[in-house]
Amino acid sequence: MGTDQLLHDGHGRRIADLRVSVTDRCNFRCQYCMPAAGLPWLDREEILSFEEIERVVRVFVELGVEDVRLTGGEPLVRRDFPALVAMLAEVDGIRDLSLTTNGYLLERDAEALARAGIGRVNVSIDSLQRDRFFELTRRDALARVLRGLEAIGAHPEVRPVKVNAVAIRGFTEAEVERFCRFARSTDFQVRFIEFMPLDADRAWTPDSVLAGEELRGMIEAIHPLEELPRGPSSTARVFRFADGQGEIGFVNPVSEPFCAECNRVRLTAEGRLRTCLFSVHETDLREPLRGGADDAELAAIIREAVWRKELKHRVNEPGFRRPARSMSAIGG
Ligand code: SAM
Ligand code: SF4
Repeated sequence: MGTDQLLHDGHGRRIADLRVSVTDRCNFRCQYCMPAAGLPWLDREEILSFEEIERVVRVFVELGVEDVRLTGGEPLVRRDFPALVAMLAEVDGIRDLSLTTNGYLLERDAEALARAGIGRVNVSIDSLQRDRFFELTRRDALARVLRGLEAIGAHPEVRPVKVNAVAIRGFTEAEVERFCRFARSTDFQVRFIEFMPLDADRAWTPDSVLAGEELRGMIEAIHPLEELPRGPSSTARVFRFADGQGEIGFVNPVSEPFCAECNRVRLTAEGRLRTCLFSVHETDLREPLRGGADDAELAAIIREAVWRKELKHRVNEPGFRRPARSMSAIGG
């Protein structure tokens, strides 16, 4: 494909990364994401079928998308989810097929996912202490999630396996030392992700963000770190413990926005294209998809929407408008 045919936005960024939410449902109720009572779920006919997801992904891949991450809600609660992974693993042109999961069902599914061809997996774990994990996720499930992590870790073809922790002031400080020990004693990469204003409870305030640099300072006071070169479009700053034992990373979307290099767009479970996590406008792909649009027509709708991708998020600016959807309904 000529470079002029690749998917670009109106700010000169090439879009090569698609995050696909396969369900809005979840078996956890993380405080920074969902309300305790859950959210009104979409009806089954509202969410895209596997065939519809595959078709949209193929069109994106035709437009030059190379990285596809499956997320949710909790992807593993979607029935037969590994079958979707197998379908997408067959799509020529995907360089990186990955999954983000809370790990609750990973012990059950690790083998099927590896067999289906998942390339790498991120498991979200915010605390390594049972009671604090329970407090944050509202599920007493740390031991089970750790078993899931081990289960996927047992498949060497699925690499890297990363552990993501949301960094929240007043909570995460008491996890730092444990996460360092964990990163240093396993081959799982630990990454802290700054808390973003996408929680359904709207408890987020600027002060509730524990900035990556602050966390890094706390770690560095105990373990000297050396920064590793940053990959193109990588959102994380990754450091190696200076003694060579393990790595730790920081994703700092609030304190150090990486919008200028953002190459991502998102597809919600009901088939809406979002060009920024914080988009207040969406483009419906489901109606044309179900209304008989051919691939060229779908591609034209996608190009047009992507062209209008937001220049940057405005979380740190006065007048910032939160999107109506919370993280679980977007697909983080
Ligand atoms: N349920 C899966 C999981 O938790 O890994 C996948 C979906 S979840 C929405 C994707 C990622 O978004 C998780 O790593 C989660 O910790 C993160 N996340 C959710 N709400 C967030 C928020 N308000 N700020 C930062 N990260 C958030
Ligand atoms: Fe569910 Fe993931 Fe949101 Fe937690 S972060 S409530 S696991 S979607």
